[in-house]
Amino acid sequence: MSKDVLFDKIAFLGIGLIGASMARVIAREGLCRSMVAYSRRGVTRSKALELGLVEAVYEEPAEAVAGADLVVIAAPIGAYASLAEAIGPTLSPGTIVTDVGSVKQAAIDAVQPYLASGVHFVPGHPIAGTEHSGPEAGFADLFEGRWTILTPALCSDEKAVEQISELWRCCGASVETMKPEHHDMVLSITSHLPHLIAYTIVGTATSLEEDLRQEVIKFSASGFRDFTRIAASDPVMWRDVFLSNKEATLAILQRFNEDLAAMQSAIEKGDGKTLLDFFSRTRDIRRGIIIANQAD
Ligand code: NAP
Repeated sequence: MSKDVLFDKIAFLGIGLIGASMARVIAREGLCRSMVAYSRRGVTRSKALELGLVEAVYEEPAEAVAGADLVVIAAPIGAYASLAEAIGPTLSPGTIVTDVGSVKQAAIDAVQPYLASGVHFVPGHPIAGTEHSGPEAGFADLFEGRWTILTPALCSDEKAVEQISELWRCCGASVETMKPEHHDMVLSITSHLPHLIAYTIVGTATSLEEDLRQEVIKFSASGFRDFTRIAASDPVMWRDVFLSNKEATLAILQRFNEDLAAMQSAIEKGDGKTLLDFFSRTRDIRRGIIIANQAD
């Protein structure tokens, strides 16, 4: 293998936004010799071939992973257990399995039981995405300058962890390793709660009377529009995120409800100082994110 080729054959189980983005950057950087994909629906398989993302597509996950030295699970978390069960007996010792799922403890619980002891599972989560889905939504720069979190709690093979870290670095991401439960707690605050709030705000607005709803759309640039972008994210993926990260999401939701009640009370009492203090603190957070290069 030449210096830059990290894998011989990569098999994607799921080739939507994230799988297709990985395939594009892996091809651009020449990080493997061949790529194939499993996808459930014929329309997605045809699209992946038409876009030239992979060389072959399969209807059966076990057929896709045959002979692969890296398997990337890039489907909704709810599908993980059945995918892992299907591929488990086919994987040879030394194969690395990774994933891109937004919840890590549930990913490990679903996949690990089906893997033989010589197969290395290095769970991962790229902190990058858009509200679009499907193979045509993927683009090679998606991970540029973003973080990927790895949670290899049960993987004792340091070489496998390093290979996945290197893969992500070559895709433009910075890599951090943490415990799965810590990942799920952090992401419940930075990603899961904001999505739940966006879904709720847009849901509330769509339940208004027709004339008011038209004006909400017309004047959406005043703030609502930003929430509609987040609330346009894939419903299946987000259903699975909330069902599989129940504990951490409920804990942060409790805190959020308390803070919201405090805001409600300050407005009722005309307590401008509380509102001003709160809004000033949150403005500082935004500045911190810009300084950390995670927003423009
Ligand atoms: P996507 O664009 O909707 O693509 C999903 C892929 O999974 C498709 O190939 C789809 O196949 C397949 N799939 C869907 N349901 C399935 C099932 N029940 N059984 C087997 N395969 C199934 O999704 P994505 O945005 O790439 O998300 C994939 C993973 O990345 C998720 O676990 C998500 O948590 C994680 N993630 C997403 C983002 C984001 O912003 N979207 C960011 C970071 C991580 P068909 O099209 O053939 O049905």
